[in-house]
Order: sequence, then C-alpha cells, then structure tokens
Amino acid sequence: MKQASCPLCSTKPDALGLENGIKISEDFTIVTCRKCDHRYTYFVVNVSEEEIYRDERYRVIDNRNSIFDKMLSFEYKRVVGKIKQRCGSEPGVLDFGSGKGKFLSLCKEAGFRTKGVETSGPRADFARKFYHLEIDSNYYSKGKLLGAPFDVISLFHVLEHLSKPKDLFTNLIRDNLGREGLVVVEVPNIDSWQSRWAGKNWLQLDVPRHINHFSQDSIISLIESCGLHPVEISYFSSHVGLLGMLRTCLGLVGYKGDLIHSLKNEKSIPLYLLIGVLLPVSTVLETVASLFHRGGIIRIYASNPHAGENNVDS
Ligand SMILES: [Zn+2]
Repeated sequence: MKQASCPLCSTKPDALGLENGIKISEDFTIVTCRKCDHRYTYFVVNVSEEEIYRDERYRVIDNRNSIFDKMLSFEYKRVVGKIKQRCGSEPGVLDFGSGKGKFLSLCKEAGFRTKGVETSGPRADFARKFYHLEIDSNYYSKGKLLGAPFDVISLFHVLEHLSKPKDLFTNLIRDNLGREGLVVVEVPNIDSWQSRWAGKNWLQLDVPRHINHFSQDSIISLIESCGLHPVEISYFSSHVGLLGMLRTCLGLVGYKGDLIHSLKNEKSIPLYLLIGVLLPVSTVLETVASLFHRGGIIRIYASNPHAGENNVDS
C-alpha cells in the first residue's frame, strides 16, 4: 500500500506541502492537504499491511482481567449507557472494526442485538471464542450486511487506519444504518494537548498504521458528508486518552521507551514508580484538556437530523 494523496479529497501534495510536513522518518511525512486541510500520512514506498501490523500494540493477547481491560470496560459502559438513553433498551448494534469484541460483549450483556465486522482473523476468533459473538470477517467495501438495518453503528479507532475513509463510511452508513439510527465514532485528536506536547512521539500518532490524523473539524466534516449531524461530542477517555497523556508526561521527564511494550512485558519497578507519580498529574491534565476540547480522543454521537430529531434528547 501507498498513500500519495489526501484520503478525503484525493488532492496530491505539492513540493511546498511536503517540505512543510512533519517528517516522521525517511519514508513517512505527515502533510496537511492544501485543499481541505486534512492531515494525513504521506508515503510513496510500498508498505506491506501485514508487516506494519506486526507491531506490539496490535498483538492479540488475552488480557481480560488486566487493568487495561477494566479501564476499557468502564469507558465502553458509558457508551452503552448513552445508547440506551437514545435508542431504547434493545437496539441492534453493528460494531465495525470490532477487534476482540469487548464493546460488543458489553452491548450483548445489556440485552442489545449485536453483530461485529472484523477482518483480523485472530481478533475475530477471540471475540467468537471468549464472548460468543457473531463476527463477520469478510472484507467490507460496500453493500448491505446481514442483519441490516441497524439502530446503532459504532466505529472505535477505525477511520484513522483507512486510506479511503469517506468511501467506506458513506457506503456503510447509507446501506446499513436505520433511518433513525445513531452512529458512534471515536478517533484520536491530533489537536489534543497530549499530541502537541509530544510532537512526533505522540502515542496515538502511530505512523504508518494511522493514515488519517483527524481534528474536530475534519471528523465532523466527514460525518456530515453522509447527511448525519453530531448530537453529542466528548473528548475524554479513561483508556486511550489517559494512556496517551501519561505517555506524553513520561516523555516530558525523559522517558523514551515503548510504554505499551513495557507495561505488557516488563516488570520495571522504576517505571511503575514514575507512573505512580505521573498518573494523578496526567489525569488532571487530561480532564482539563477535555474541557477545552483538547482531550486525546474525539467521540461523536451522530444521527440523521431529518429523521431522528424527535427521538433524540440532545
Ligand atoms: Zn484533502
């Protein structure tokens, strides 16, 4: 795969655009589209998708009893609560890019009808084996999925990975969301404080796996291009957001390691002590950042303004 033009509007960067970009390495530069202002990872070298996803943070492990799993559950339960408020007690939920199935498992527990789409075989198998979920592993580009229309379609940390996010999102929503349905989208926030302070070392930059680096404007514009309108936006995540700020704070005091790798594989007492000191600071900073719309993530709930307004208590 290559990425030689803007994923949203297909405009190619000019020489000045490339020169002014943020050079991550010899092969990858983050550029700002001269037409639509979207920031994306530009690369003309051929990169094997299989190769780049061999990274530690994408390794599938059973961490169901870990602190990370508990943080994730806490975060997702808040989303399940919001869905209940907006869509009633037994909505049909399609989680696109369902990963190991954590979010869907909580939806199922809450009595929702669930379906996942996950093309990574080991992740899909994990969700089937441990949570007994129905997961479609086929590659999706357009068309109606079995079980459509759904009352809710969720995409957690999916759109930043796609080289043509607009095409996929438009097809997915048009063909699979009920007329009064709700969409939940979460992506990293390139304009967050943790991103600005960490620069090239931001945990959620994740080049070249992240092709799109969304701002509030660019993700809203993508959602609105499908005829949907945001009904609620939040910027705080006690999982990805907090972890990102913690990594940024560790970087500011000189830590240069791979936090995810260290926490998964090493039992380093000095690192744990440092985290013990910086975690409360990171929590306060990330909470304040979120109040200013500068938290590490952007989570948007959106619906069709012409169909769902009477049912949505925004
Ligand atoms: Zn563009």
